[in-house]
Amino acid sequence: MSDVSKGEIIISRTYPTIGLDLETVVQPGLFNYPLANGEKAALLANRCRSCGRTFFPKRSLCPECFVDGEMEEVKLDTRGIIYSTTVVTVPSPAGIKPPYAYGYVDLPANNVRVFALFAGADPRTFVPGQEVDLVVEPIMVNKQGQKVIGYKFRKVL
Ligand SMILES: [Zn+2]
Repeated sequence: MSDVSKGEIIISRTYPTIGLDLETVVQPGLFNYPLANGEKAALLANRCRSCGRTFFPKRSLCPECFVDGEMEEVKLDTRGIIYSTTVVTVPSPAGIKPPYAYGYVDLPANNVRVFALFAGADPRTFVPGQEVDLVVEPIMVNKQGQKVIGYKFRKVL
């Protein structure tokens, strides 16, 4: 539905007849999605107020401090450096088409290493040390025909 008089456009993400969302996220809470106007996608981590360590995916308890209630949610920086990478030439059990690359990305601003897919270039061309930037976009289509939204890193050119 849209209200043209207010200049407002709302895009429905739902099939009107069966009430199934057109999109779904790979796992709730990993990143902010859908995005508000002007909002940048970011991975959602948490940080221990006692020792300052950051965890992605989130942990409910810091494995260093074991103190309840010390975790706060933080948005991670989107720029990272590839720590390691692997090219996969068989389909993933979840249905990601090969070849694709994944690996670990270091985010120096948050002092955290995250596991991620790589996108936007020949999978064989990702190498450790390369600078990458976060993107949030479809990674596959599930059995219900929904686009599954996930996070990936692209090369910074
Ligand atoms: Zn801690």
